[in-house]
Amino acid sequence: MAETEKFTEIREETATRIDEIFGQNVFNDNVMRQRLPKKTYRELRHVIDEGRSLDPVTADVIAHAMKEWAIEKGATHFTHWFQPLTGITAEKHDAFISHEDEEGRVMTEFSGKELVKGEADASSFPSGGTRSTFEARGYTTWDCSSPAFIKESGCGKILCIPTAFNSYTGEALDKKTPLLRSMDALSIQALRIVRLFGNNTAKKVSTSVGPEQEYFLVDENLYKKRPDLMYTGRTLFGAPSPRGQEMEDHYYGVIRERVGEFMKDLNTELWKLGVTAKTQHNEVAPAQHELAPIYETANIAADHNQLVMETMKRVAVHHGMRCLLHEKPYAGLTGSGKHNNWSLSTDEGVNLLDPGKTPNDNVQFLLVLSCIIKAVDIHADLLRQSAADVGNDHRLGANEAPPAIMSVFLGEQLQDVVDQLITTGEATSAKQGETLHTGAIALPDVEMDATDRNRTSPFAFTGNKFEFRSVGSSDSIAAANTVLNAIVAEAFSEAANELEQAPDFTIAVHDLIKKNLTDHQRIIFNGDGYSEAWVKEASRRGLPNVPSMIEAASALTTEKSVSLFEKFGIFTKTELKSREKVVYETYSKSIHVEAATMVEMVSKQILPACVRYAGNLASSVRELNGAGIDTSTEKEMLKDVSDNINELKASLDRLMGDLKKTETLPDGKETAFYYKDTVMLDMESLRKPADRLELIVDKELWPFPSYGELVFEV
Ligand code: ADP
Ligand code: MG
Repeated sequence: MAETEKFTEIREETATRIDEIFGQNVFNDNVMRQRLPKKTYRELRHVIDEGRSLDPVTADVIAHAMKEWAIEKGATHFTHWFQPLTGITAEKHDAFISHEDEEGRVMTEFSGKELVKGEADASSFPSGGTRSTFEARGYTTWDCSSPAFIKESGCGKILCIPTAFNSYTGEALDKKTPLLRSMDALSIQALRIVRLFGNNTAKKVSTSVGPEQEYFLVDENLYKKRPDLMYTGRTLFGAPSPRGQEMEDHYYGVIRERVGEFMKDLNTELWKLGVTAKTQHNEVAPAQHELAPIYETANIAADHNQLVMETMKRVAVHHGMRCLLHEKPYAGLTGSGKHNNWSLSTDEGVNLLDPGKTPNDNVQFLLVLSCIIKAVDIHADLLRQSAADVGNDHRLGANEAPPAIMSVFLGEQLQDVVDQLITTGEATSAKQGETLHTGAIALPDVEMDATDRNRTSPFAFTGNKFEFRSVGSSDSIAAANTVLNAIVAEAFSEAANELEQAPDFTIAVHDLIKKNLTDHQRIIFNGDGYSEAWVKEASRRGLPNVPSMIEAASALTTEKSVSLFEKFGIFTKTELKSREKVVYETYSKSIHVEAATMVEMVSKQILPACVRYAGNLASSVRELNGAGIDTSTEKEMLKDVSDNINELKASLDRLMGDLKKTETLPDGKETAFYYKDTVMLDMESLRKPADRLELIVDKELWPFPSYGELVFEV
């Protein structure tokens, strides 16, 4: 296609109006209002807004309208879309057809029962032992607060109904159920707080979440030459390329054409699904990018984040690329995370985390803030656990993502208010943002925020929200928000218990804020979270520093945790135990796949290539010797190769031997630790000689594309 033609096409395409595309595949409030009888619509709104239960007649009417709408849009199937403990989504498609009528015409059918409830074999999903194969039944139930949507893919158009997934005996087998339970708990407790301050009209306090999603793109042809990327999502070998991210030219850099075309399609697909994809930019590492949506209610944000991840992968394939969501695809380059922006607002639109211009005067805000600080301090271990996944072990604490030590960043303005409260019991002033003098006549002077940013903090106050920065890029955000909601609900409930009884509210609230801040100030840290000094200081303060996912897992089942979650009906002890077990199993399985992939790559590809190269060198030495030419350099090269081959083979044998031992180990904690403490170390030892050999062996013979090719050929 001629350049001008292409340009015209681009211009025409972009003429598609964003407001027309947005939400076109969503059975949203607008569609419901148009398509449902008034009474049904009102009923459903009550169910959504007030959590009432849905009666079967109403469900039937909704199902019918939903089906008609979906079929008009070309949908052929429906599915209950849910989030098992695998961390990704699950679906099983059913066509909208039933028996034929007398004239042989197929009937379309979708009942209220099918909308509201589905069945899925619970024993085939991770359940941490709560389900055995003979107790297979599991149910999916409609989460009507998250809108149904039509997904377009190779399968055609499928109506997806967001659902929760529970066992026959009612245990949550998914990520959505506890999140919804935690949102309810937080709402109830937060309402008690706003009531104390005279608000008698708010009906609900909801959690708003905006997750910023980082990802890498890689060319599909190169990807397919890397078994490690295909099987594990990350490179298990790879020598550093001469150029990495040291030029600092990628972050916010001009987006390359091919990536831009991908982003354009990605946005369109997401907008159709009602996902508010808002911001896009290049990230720190080459081939790394970010997408941020506009924040929304936590369960919808969690669903949408799943859609974002899924759509990224799908659209990348259409552009001859693959999207890598792994937390650490390349050693030596910055990995990917997900900043989970979190705040609380009433159904009347008041953000409880908005300090206003003068936070020192805003007593409700200070109480809320002090409760959150207390919550994070008491449950730092749980919060840490909520951001743990296998890939994230490579990031947290590795000086590119927040440390594994949880702490709260407040910034200058709030820290000053907190200091005043702790020392004098009263805060009489608040530092204000100043004017930034640009020093050039042509540039206007601008108002600065009262507080700078701190990128090294795991839990940072950023103006009117907290940003939990530890979450991994491939992880669901459900667990992180479930924990945040739960721990804050507890702190609110304890505050309300005290303040509701207080003879003099003004004095009591004042004392409580001071007490919370004083007792829990050790969790506040505004300095450099990457520094060695902080590790020491945190240890002096007694803050937990949990380096790995499996060490973090036991936080789920401490007495403190069980009591918290049971009190608010978010998890039962059984559910917590099963989740801890799933952590160990997931870890062991993932490391096993990585180790087995390394074994295969070394045995079948790296060793043969190296041996061939050594053979070539050896014959050169013979030939040159025959011609009477000095071969000392060639011999040195040969020795270098052969030393590394020996080390490689020895490391391979060790890894294989240690992997073999896992066959007789039982599932569970001990095995997970064996993978971490033995298998992972073997893997590191195996990688070293392989990466050295990559820099020695003839490029023509090396079986895999290099780091440089992977990140620069996008
Ligand atoms: P920042 O630059 O302070 O990180 P951005 O405006 O870039 O903020 O927003 C980052 C993410 O935070 C976006 O997804 C945005 O929608 C979300 N966000 C903004 N305000 C809130 C809020 N009050 N509650 C939750 N998320 C929010
Ligand atoms: Mg941000």
